[in-house]
Amino acid sequence: MTRDWTALPSANSLWEATAEPARAFPVLSGEHQADVVIIGAGYTGLSAAHHIARSGLAPVVLEANSPGWGASGRNGGVITAKFRLSFREIDAVHGRAMARRMYEIAHESTDMVEELVSEFGITSANLTRTGQVKAAHNETTLKAAVDEADWMTREMGSAEVRILSKGAVRDETGSDVFVGGVLNPGSGGIHPLNYLRGLADGVARRGVPIFQQSPVIKLRRDKDGIVAETPQGAVRAKQAIIATNSYSDLTDATAHMQRTLIPFRSALIATEKLPRNLAGMLMPTGRTYTETKRMMRWFRMVDDHVIFGGRGAFGKQDSQAAFDALRKAMVGIFPDLADVPLAYKWSGLVAMTLDSVPHIGRIDDRTLVSMGYNGAGVAMSSLMGRYLAAFVRGEAPDVGLLDVSRMKAIPFYPLREPAVRMVAGWYQFLDAIGQ
Ligand SMILES: Cc1cc2nc3c(=O)[nH]c(=O)nc-3n(C[C@H](O)[C@H](O)[C@H](O)COP(=O)(O)OP(=O)(O)OC[C@H]3O[C@@H](n4cnc5c(N)ncnc54)[C@H](O)[C@@H]3O)c2cc1C
Repeated sequence: MTRDWTALPSANSLWEATAEPARAFPVLSGEHQADVVIIGAGYTGLSAAHHIARSGLAPVVLEANSPGWGASGRNGGVITAKFRLSFREIDAVHGRAMARRMYEIAHESTDMVEELVSEFGITSANLTRTGQVKAAHNETTLKAAVDEADWMTREMGSAEVRILSKGAVRDETGSDVFVGGVLNPGSGGIHPLNYLRGLADGVARRGVPIFQQSPVIKLRRDKDGIVAETPQGAVRAKQAIIATNSYSDLTDATAHMQRTLIPFRSALIATEKLPRNLAGMLMPTGRTYTETKRMMRWFRMVDDHVIFGGRGAFGKQDSQAAFDALRKAMVGIFPDLADVPLAYKWSGLVAMTLDSVPHIGRIDDRTLVSMGYNGAGVAMSSLMGRYLAAFVRGEAPDVGLLDVSRMKAIPFYPLREPAVRMVAGWYQFLDAIGQ
């Protein structure tokens, strides 16, 4: 079923409130020609546009809303070199060579964010590489996190990971609830919407046409290539890239991709600016933090606002109950925030896949996709743009487990929402009993 894209609200987020003004892009009207038509102006689509243009080809980007309206403008801005599937799991199932290749790809992804920020001079993105702490809520999960870190050091040569004592995590966070943790110094944080707007602006300044409020409502083959039709125009191209991720079902033209994804709502809250004395006590190093719970929550401090994120409501809309649950969890970790009002709350859809990794590649001779970032896509989708450009040029880059041939349709697709709810309920139960 196709959603009415015009009825969906933008995010009422801290990012929207603090972002650089958005450049206004035109609406597509009339007929246009291109080498590649890119559907979706998130990080995937814009990075692909940049890398394709750099190859000497002519891309056009079509966006149903405005650039960054999807996950790229409303995420947590946490930059990590990982997949939801751990490298240890990859090693156990697919062997050492595959684990190493995936490790390389993960690190290429964080480097790509740095490269794009510097290429387009996006200083307002405030990119930091100050690290991420995985904070353990009990001894069992601490042991698992430490084992994982030891394995990474021993087997992947990941020398940088450090184990933190309870006292060190208390100094890091300002919270007393954690029993210890693991620091990964290579991770970082970014202002996701400024990063997105900087990319859109930079790509447009180099001559790539970007059209907003231009949903592709039909994608059809013609004798020479492919035609993307919008309500007021069309782009004829040799190849198309579908970069719509968890919003693939906005129109029928891309809705078939949604059958490979399980959309999962992720929600965020942000406090008002804290008084300086309180802000100085919490998260003073500017790192990002995740919990070890299965229903993972994460937090960071940005400009004296605490941002706290985790699972959102099930279904198509936000729910106040999900925001209340996040707030309760936040106050559980930081009791000093009990009387601090919230200034922002927002949510978006992340795209989970059956094998917990994204997929990229050619789905037919004229169409390419990259999607399914499993909630860890800021860096990965930025990198996938470079690989998409390689596929467009006819190359066959080694993308390891991300190869689209491994992408599977979700079985019993109509039942995915009740199934997600059931799994989430089971995870919450295990977290509650400390397993
Ligand atoms: C709440 C939330 C928090 C997150 N936090 C993090 C985080 O901290 N760290 C991290 O690494 N990842 C995070 N993620 C994931 C990350 O944001 C995404 O993986 C990434 O932004 C995906 O980028 P994308 O360009 O593929 O998709 P999107 O940014 O979603 O872009 C897809 C675009 O396609 C457009 N579109 C859809 N259909 C059509 C059509 N028919 N025609 C034209 N345009 C169309 C949509 O309007 C949308 O703008 C989070 C995601 C969410 C939702």
